[in-house]
Amino acid sequence: MSESFDCIVLGCGGFGSGALYHLARRGVRVLGIEQFGIAHDRGSSHGETRIIRQAYFEHPDYVPLLRRAYELWHELEVESGRQMFHRVGMLTTGPAAGEAVPGTVRSSELHGLPLERLTPQEARRRFPTYHVPDELSVVFEPQAGFLEVERCVEAHIQAAVHHGAIVRTEETVQHWSCEGDTVRVRTDKGEYSAARMIVTAGAWASRMLAELNLPLNVVRKVVFWFPAPLRHHAADAGNCTFFFEVNGGQFYGFPSIDGRTLKLAEHTGGETVTDPARVDRDLHPTDLLRVADFVRSFLPELNPEPVRHSVCMYTKTPDCHFIVDRHPHHPQIVLGAGFSGHGFKFTSSLGEVLAELAMESRSTLPVEFLSLGRFGAR
Ligand SMILES: Cc1cc2nc3c(=O)[nH]c(=O)nc-3n(C[C@H](O)[C@H](O)[C@H](O)COP(=O)(O)OP(=O)(O)OC[C@H]3O[C@@H](n4cnc5c(N)ncnc54)[C@H](O)[C@@H]3O)c2cc1C
Repeated sequence: MSESFDCIVLGCGGFGSGALYHLARRGVRVLGIEQFGIAHDRGSSHGETRIIRQAYFEHPDYVPLLRRAYELWHELEVESGRQMFHRVGMLTTGPAAGEAVPGTVRSSELHGLPLERLTPQEARRRFPTYHVPDELSVVFEPQAGFLEVERCVEAHIQAAVHHGAIVRTEETVQHWSCEGDTVRVRTDKGEYSAARMIVTAGAWASRMLAELNLPLNVVRKVVFWFPAPLRHHAADAGNCTFFFEVNGGQFYGFPSIDGRTLKLAEHTGGETVTDPARVDRDLHPTDLLRVADFVRSFLPELNPEPVRHSVCMYTKTPDCHFIVDRHPHHPQIVLGAGFSGHGFKFTSSLGEVLAELAMESRSTLPVEFLSLGRFGAR
């Protein structure tokens, strides 16, 4: 006999934890299955911090999802009694004809979002950690900041459980199938059935949805913590998150939150990972080359020798936009995949969207631009 639920969430990392919370909050009998622990460090939702911003350079269509994300992060903070969103602002710099600055300005103008245009001199004076060269354009988004990533996942899961969700950790889904209206799931520990299922398997999405042949490429990303002991490096001294489009790449980072180190990484690049369970977590000298050059040029006070590193995975689509849709052959299955290295800030609002798509077959937020059909899969 298999246990039966209204909905199963396959994978309880960033998006699964958000979906689980929104299902449980609306009274759905929901089971979450996670192969590791909660807020573990073997997927894509770990490493202390994630940037959150609204003037979205990637595409203005994300802005309504971000407005809702901001509301929901606030609600989750109130419900959990813990702060997880730190509104320290964000400095974005790059060529006037590049991707980041013009895209940020476009989204801010289209959606009426606050954005300050700074000269490089003003940026250097206000944020002395960063050396913005005179030839680059600079904007500052005051409503941006960072999320404490593990705390967000834990808070979604704890609140989901509080609303009645059942979560099974250290349990791996091995197979699922649809029989009529019922979804059947077999794990290494048991069997379950449900009327609906949400697949939020991160870097494992292609394996869990093999029949769809999803156009996903998983890449290895290394993030670094560099010594940053000066007072003005710290978030609580007014330092902000940053995004630089320079040297043929995009680099981002955070103010120091421990008063000793500052986290930064390259957003572009990364080697393809063939098996997410076996991603290389060691640090190799070549991992550091471009990031150390970036530090020398643009954060020149820092010693370019990191004190620690962490390895994470991006699951990228060909256009680097997400896939949030119903399964083309099984309407009772919903998928959230291919978050392409910029998804975490949306786990609150897209968690809600995934729950709506699963239970009501449509979402109140506009997500058609994230459909799987754009890759010709339907
Ligand atoms: C280094 C790095 C920096 C980033 N920076 C930012 C940023 O600044 N801002 C931002 O918004 N986004 C950022 N992102 C992107 C963001 O973190 C990801 O888009 C998001 O965390 C992906 O969430 P997910 O739920 O898809 O994956 P995950 O959080 O990895 O969740 C998938 C879960 O499914 C589980 N699972 C898979 N298969 C099975 C199975 N068979 N059985 C049971 N469980 C299973 C996995 O164990 C995992 O827990 C960054 C990502 C990385 C790697």
